[in-house]
Parts: sequence; C-alpha cells; structure tokens
Amino acid sequence: MTVDNTSGVNPHTPIENLPGVGTYYARKLKKLEIKTLEDLIYHFPFRYDDFSQISTISNIVPGEKISVQGVIWQIKNIRTRRGKFVTVATIADQSSTIEVIWFNQPYLTKTLKAGLPVSLSGKVQLDGNRPKLVSPSYEIIRSTVNREPLTVNQNTIHTGRLVPIYPETEGLSSKWLRTEIAKFLPIYKQNSKDFLPKNIIENQKFESLNSALQKIHFPEKYDDVISARERLGFDEIFITQLMSQLRKKEWQQRSTAPKMHINKNKLTKFANNLPFTLTTAQKRAMREIFNNLESQRPTNRLLEGDVGSGKTVVAAAAALVAYDNGLDTLFAAPTEILTFQHQNTLDSILKPLGIKVGIWTASKKQKGDITCGTHALLTSFKPERQIGLVIVDEQHRFGVAQRAKLFLSQNSPQKRGSPKAAKLTPHLLTMTATPIPRTLALTLYGDLDLSILDEMPKGRQKIATFVVPNFKRNDAYGFIEKEVKGGRQAFILTPFVEPSETMATVKSATQEFENLKTKFPKKIKLGLLHGRLKSKDKEKIIKDFKNNKIQILVATPVVEVGIDIPNATIMLIESAERFGLAQLHQLRGRVGRSEHKSYCFLFTDSRAENSIKRLKSMEKIHVGFELADLDLKMRGAGEIFGLTQSGFFNFKVADLSNQKLISTAQAEARKIIDSDPNLKKYPQLSTKLSTLNLQYSQPN
Ligand code: ADP
Ligand code: MG
Repeated sequence: MTVDNTSGVNPHTPIENLPGVGTYYARKLKKLEIKTLEDLIYHFPFRYDDFSQISTISNIVPGEKISVQGVIWQIKNIRTRRGKFVTVATIADQSSTIEVIWFNQPYLTKTLKAGLPVSLSGKVQLDGNRPKLVSPSYEIIRSTVNREPLTVNQNTIHTGRLVPIYPETEGLSSKWLRTEIAKFLPIYKQNSKDFLPKNIIENQKFESLNSALQKIHFPEKYDDVISARERLGFDEIFITQLMSQLRKKEWQQRSTAPKMHINKNKLTKFANNLPFTLTTAQKRAMREIFNNLESQRPTNRLLEGDVGSGKTVVAAAAALVAYDNGLDTLFAAPTEILTFQHQNTLDSILKPLGIKVGIWTASKKQKGDITCGTHALLTSFKPERQIGLVIVDEQHRFGVAQRAKLFLSQNSPQKRGSPKAAKLTPHLLTMTATPIPRTLALTLYGDLDLSILDEMPKGRQKIATFVVPNFKRNDAYGFIEKEVKGGRQAFILTPFVEPSETMATVKSATQEFENLKTKFPKKIKLGLLHGRLKSKDKEKIIKDFKNNKIQILVATPVVEVGIDIPNATIMLIESAERFGLAQLHQLRGRVGRSEHKSYCFLFTDSRAENSIKRLKSMEKIHVGFELADLDLKMRGAGEIFGLTQSGFFNFKVADLSNQKLISTAQAEARKIIDSDPNLKKYPQLSTKLSTLNLQYSQPN
C-alpha cells in the first residue's frame, strides 16, 4: 500500500497530522493512548486469529477456520421478510465455488463487486449439506480485474494469515487499526533508528528493531511473534533500567535536600495522640524515612503496604518532621476524593499539634503547612516557603511520580528569585497499595529505596469473599438489604466498561444506578459517584456516605482508590473478571475496617473456567502479595499492577516474571552507564531517552 504526502512524517508526528487520520480518529486514538505515529506503531496486537490456512474451495472442511481466495462471481443484497439485509455472494476459485453471506451490511456491495479478486477468512458452516462462509473478514487482493489464474496472495492483512487483533475502543476496530498500521509501518521503519547497541543485539541474538516491529504486527508464523516479543520486551526493561539508573545518579549528584532534625519528643506526642498503637511495621517504615530526612541526599523512597495497612499515618509523621524543621509538605493524590479524605485525616491527626492542613485541587485552593492536592499541585501551586517533603499517594495510578520530581527540581522557591534559601530539593516519598514483590519493585523502580508495611493493624478480620453466579444476584441484593437494615453500608461497583472514565462508563453507571434503585426499598438511600461529577457534588456524596445519609454507594470502578468508610461492610464488584487480583484485593480492602464482619461479592458474567478459577482464589487468599504472585503467573505483570503507566515506560510485551530477562537488561544497562554515563558512544540511545524524557515530563 502506498501513502501520499508522507514527506515530513516522522515517528513523533502527531497522529492527527498523518494523511487520512484526521481529528475524528485522532480523538478516538487518544483513548488508546495513541498520540503520535510512534504510539500507533507501538500499539501491539494482544492476540492473532489464525487464518493462515488457505484452502482451495473444493477442499474446505465445515467447522474449521479457514481462508479462501477467489473471484466474486456474483453479489447482491436481499431483504428478508423482517426488513433486514442479507448480502449473498458466490466466490469461485479454480477448484469450485462457495456461497458467502453477511448480515446487515448492505454497503458491502459498494466495495465488493462481481469480478473482483478477494481473500476471505472465517468459519465454514454447513447449510443443509453445502458448506457456506458466514460473515467472513474480507479484503480485495488486487484492484484491477485480471483474468490470469489466481495464485495465493501473500500481501493480505485482514485475511489468509495470522491476523493481528488489537486492543480496541468504541469506533476503532482492529480492522481499522490494522489498516492504518499496515499503511504507516513502512514509513515508520524508514524513519526510525535502532537504538539498541549493536553488541547487545549480536550477543543476545535479537531481531533488529524494524524486523521485530514487522513481525509483531504481521507475523508469518508464531515463531515470528516470539522473537519479536523477545526483542521488544527487552527494549522495555533495558530502557527502564537505563533511565532509572541515570536518574538516580543525576538526582543524587546534582541536588541537595534540606537536612532535617528529628525531634523525638514531638513524635512521641504525635503517637500518643493517635487513637491506636502503631504497628511494628509502621514504626520501622517511619524510622527508615527519618533516616533519609536526616540526610542532605534527596530521599526517593517508595512505601508499599496492603490496603488498610496504615500508610497515611506514616506519611503524616514524615510531614510532622518537616513542619518541625520549618519546612512545608505537599501531599499529592490521584483523585479529588482521595485528596479531600487525606486532608480530613491529616487535619484530625495534626491540628492538635498546631499544624494547618491545606488543600489544592482544581476547585479548591487553600495553602497550609501541609497541602493535600491533586495534579493541580504540580501545575498551579507556587510554593511560598521551602518545600521539604513531597508525598505522592497511590503513585502507580498517578503515573506522575517522575513528573513530581521534575516539579521539585524546577519549582523550588529560590529558583524564582528568593536569594536567601540554598538551592534545596525536597525529599520524595511515594506510596502504593499495589503489592509489588520486592524484586520486581526494584526492577521497575531501580532508583528507589523501598519500605514495606507487611503487617496489618491488630483486629483486622478476613473479609468473607464469594464469587456470585448471575442467578444468585438477587440473593446478594437481599443480603445487602439485611445488612443495611442492621445499620451497615455497602459499595456497589458498576460494570467495567472502559479502563477510563469515558461517557460510556458514566452512562452505564447511571443506568445501573437507576436499575439498582428499583431493587431496594425506598427507605434505603443510594448515591452515585463517578469521576465526571463536579467536585462539590463528589464531596457531598462522600460526606453523606460517611455520615450514613447514603447507605449504598454506587460507583464506577475508576473512582475506587482509597476511600475510608469504616461502617461499610459490603463490597460488591460487577465484571470482576476484568480486574487483576491485586486490584480486586485493593477494592475489597475498602471494607473490613471496623469490628463488623465484612463481605465481598464478586459478580461475573464470564463462564471461562480460568476466569472463575482465578476469581475463586479471592475466596481463599487474603494477602495482597500472594494474590499478586498468583496473577503474575496467570496473567503476566502488566495487567495486575496497572503498571502500564509506571513512571517512564509502558510495559506492553516484557514478561516481568522473567528473572533472566530482567537481570540481563539490568546488567547491560549498568555496563553502559559505568563505561559511558553520557552515552557519547550511543547517540541513537541517547536520542531515544531524551525523547522519552520529554514526552513524560509534559503534562497530558
Ligand atoms: P492505607 O495504607 O490503605 O492508606 P490508611 O492509612 O487509610 O491505609 O489506614 C486505614 C485505616 O486504618 C485508617 O482508618 C487508619 O486510621 C487505621 N489505622 C492506621 N494505622 C493503624 C494502627 N496501627 N492500628 C489501628 N488502626 C490503624
Ligand atoms: Mg491510602
């Protein structure tokens, strides 16, 4: 296929500027995180339909997935008695003819015309005793009619081969994506450089970049997919390692952080003020963080702990230390809801100590000694005093820990004309409830120190978990009603529509909400929470739920993170199979925060044995790390951890459970950095890193 007007197209050309794409599709592509030509080319298939067996028509076997190639003998639309269209065609090759039908696509006859050679892929069904192709994929294989005998055509993309199937979104089919990728791949290949050092390619016997990209999209055989994924997966880990090792070096060499003094008495007072006793793990994590704060080397520490393990109070202690040293703290969270909650929590713990806790979101802006905020902190907040500490909660969801760091280095007050302060960089503490095994965490975040809260506060009970088949749906509602009548509250997460809060998600949540209202007596109040609500409304709903004015909170799967409502005892999750186990575990962790027995109901329409088995493991396993490990084995790491946006790089193909791959990539990265930290000998690699750095440091 050829494309006109491609001069000037390069890997970073915005997708809307590609010939034939335009703003309409560009908008849809953005939902798939595709913004440039390179993003499109790096949108990889997640599976392939095997239509590589090309049969002669006389040899086809009913029931099999096959491809045939022949000439359209005749084609017409027929109207059924119910007014629907059926397109009926006869296709002939040298051996025989076969009837083909499509339903409700009358426009097909505009492109598929008698005389045209076509390639068709689909399943053969029996109509009486005659084989018939029903709704096959199709493509025209030569544009001019040509009476020479047909030979098998190798250049198909939708049929007659391993056909790539892509992650899709509304209005963007795999067929569309495949067409565009086939069109632009040759251009991308002409304009891209293989950034992986030659000696690594040779030693590891890797494919060249171009060959790997060709093979992952349009493999000729399954082996092609394997070798392509090996190369592209290595790239991901290698680049991540390089970046994080370089970052660490730079971060620690370039900048100085405020050196803090730890006032033991203040901390004792703080601990005595808490309504509970700190766990050993919390105390250990605090000590580890304090050790960092006492040094002038900027901290970059990840605090990892299961949902409910009590990370917030650990962060509060660190903020207290900063305050005590005359330094401000920023506390960033991924959503407004979480931000409001953090402000509340911190306020209740720290106000008695004379500390003002502020808030900074799109809708509400009030500075404090500690300021909780969303993204807005990183864009519109201008510090007045020296920031000593930046805390980023649920950082894997936030996806901006690295950006936070950039913010830190660029936005300290002295840079904007305050000559008094020394050039100081704040300490950085990130937190996550994602149970990333230690080895994996160090791989992904090689530049971080790690603290793990591996102990839950006393008295936490197991949450009774049940995978609920569809026919027991009403029993579950009945159970919720009973609990609510007993004074408790419930979360209901609406079906998973798309991985982001699109209108489709909101619409489906609203429908589900209306539907649920009919399932419960009027006395029981339901509230609906989704990301598109105004923040005032969100705040009110959360508050009403907290005060038990709302008994059942219906929410989209997107807004779940971190809400703390101790009186809620039921978590019902629709489309549970769509989540990773670690994620489900985090959702489940929203309940079971009081003395009351708590429950988690996992609803699924899936009948796939594997899905059910995976979900059933939630009934037995109650430790986040174990569930994460299990999912790592069953589904691979990308999905479990929601790591697609973990800092600087998207992991799309790397098998993160492959220790050998990881250690090789790590070692190769280290060799390069030790011998040539400025990448003088590796210009392509250097360019690659700087374009990535640039991309990820710009706000979306
Ligand atoms: P997460 O780690 O999920 O962010 P939170 O910090 O929100 O957990 O804490 C969950 C709940 O546990 C909060 O209500 C908090 O007050 C409480 N909590 C924290 N630490 C302890 C502890 N040591 N003992 C009892 N309850 C605690
Ligand atoms: Mg939390």
